[in-house]
Amino acid sequence: MHKKLFIPGPTEVAPDVLAKMATPMIGHRSKEASTLQHEISDKLRRVMHTQNPVILSTSSGSGLMEGSIRSLTAKRAIVFSVGAFGNRWFKMAEANNVPADKHEAEWGHPTTPEIVDKYLATGKYDVMTITHNETSTGIMNPVEEIAEVKKKYPDVLWLLDAVSSMAGAKIEVDKLGVDVCITSTQKALALPPGMAIASVSPRALEHGKQVKFRGWYLDLLEIYKYVETKDYQYSATPSLSHMFAMNYQLDRILAEGLENRYERHLAMARYTREWAKQHFALFPEEKHASVTLTTITNTKGISIKGLNDALGKLWMQISNGYGDLKEKTFRIAHMGELTMEDVKEVTAAIEKILPTLK
Ligand SMILES: *Cc1c(COP(=O)(O)O)cnc(C)c1O
Repeated sequence: MHKKLFIPGPTEVAPDVLAKMATPMIGHRSKEASTLQHEISDKLRRVMHTQNPVILSTSSGSGLMEGSIRSLTAKRAIVFSVGAFGNRWFKMAEANNVPADKHEAEWGHPTTPEIVDKYLATGKYDVMTITHNETSTGIMNPVEEIAEVKKKYPDVLWLLDAVSSMAGAKIEVDKLGVDVCITSTQKALALPPGMAIASVSPRALEHGKQVKFRGWYLDLLEIYKYVETKDYQYSATPSLSHMFAMNYQLDRILAEGLENRYERHLAMARYTREWAKQHFALFPEEKHASVTLTTITNTKGISIKGLNDALGKLWMQISNGYGDLKEKTFRIAHMGELTMEDVKEVTAAIEKILPTLK
């Protein structure tokens, strides 16, 4: 038995996918390694709706977030934050001496196209970052609307954090005009934690040449250089175990059908939101509520820790609120391998536990 995870990463991993992590090693400079990476890239491009090159990094999603803002900002970055993970991107800029400004929306509210327009109109920025799905507040930003205003500023690079939504929600990278779209393995892709993934536009790679100190391990240009010139290999040894599992899991995802997968996530989100409104309240503005997790306001003032301890005895786990939202909110993730049946199971269990909590 293991606890079924309704947390926004790591998420449940199917047993056959987990087993692929135990595939015997191959040399990372072998033809087989190149073939593996070719297959993964082709499949990821379909999941990400892009023609752009895709790179992997043996780090978690944060690695490529830090790597992208550092290696691509030549002038100044504007970070649009709607919560903890948006704020993280700003901290990364500061910690790397990357000139940056931050606009932080009131928590529970999205980044609006108007705000994006206002900042980009200043002409001060060559990079903007947006969080697609803010895992602290449960907001999913209106990226189609943002893309409309972004078109007025073709010289600005768009970096998108899709860590907790890619493969759970449709993100049409090329249609939106996203230059760098970042995700990691342990959320809606339903793989073990340990690798970050990004699609990178050719113009982003060109733009990065102006940046003198890009670091090395997480420099997007350095990573791509090997993919391009060494037949899809990497400058440092990648986690081949993850790559075996990823290649297999992407087949499972494509076999489910992307549209079916998005529908499944949306149905679970709708169910959870209705349940939340019936028993508690939704934390984010409903119009912009996430489809991969629901952040719920603890209107009953129950102990979330107590709730999770009781759920643990039933082999289930949800998430407390993130950071300042701890105990004030709790989060039910419904992404990756989870189904409507699972969501019904966890919400029914919570209903049973509620009267027993002080
Ligand atoms: C989980 C998460 C991250 C961080 O990803 P790691 O893989 O843990 O480094 C960044 N942004 C969002 C929105 C996330 O949910």
